Amino acid sequence: MPDQDVNNLERRCPRLGSDISFNYCLISGEDDNPCFKILDCWWEYFDVTDYLRRNMPEAAFAELIRTAEKPKNKIGSIIDIIQKVQKTKP
Ligand code: SF4
Repeated sequence: MPDQDVNNLERRCPRLGSDISFNYCLISGEDDNPCFKILDCWWEYFDVTDYLRRNMPEAAFAELIRTAEKPKNKIGSIIDIIQKVQKTKP
């Protein structure tokens, strides 16, 4: 998918509960960096890892990968379970 098309993608944000654009996800983390869930939220839509690798500074991309790979604590796991249950409700 061309990069300009990626910028127009939208999905339901599991944290906010409303539809948001990929552009928002790119700046909604700490210090205007990408949200820490960006890889988890967008991998089904396009190759988000490749996109970020090409469009982020190398150090920032490496930090994002480190953050995404950290094991989840109990609270994070519980929130994920709640979100999965909410997705299955009609
Ligand atoms: S990456 Fe973050 S802001 Fe974007 S949809 Fe996922 S949780 Fe929401």
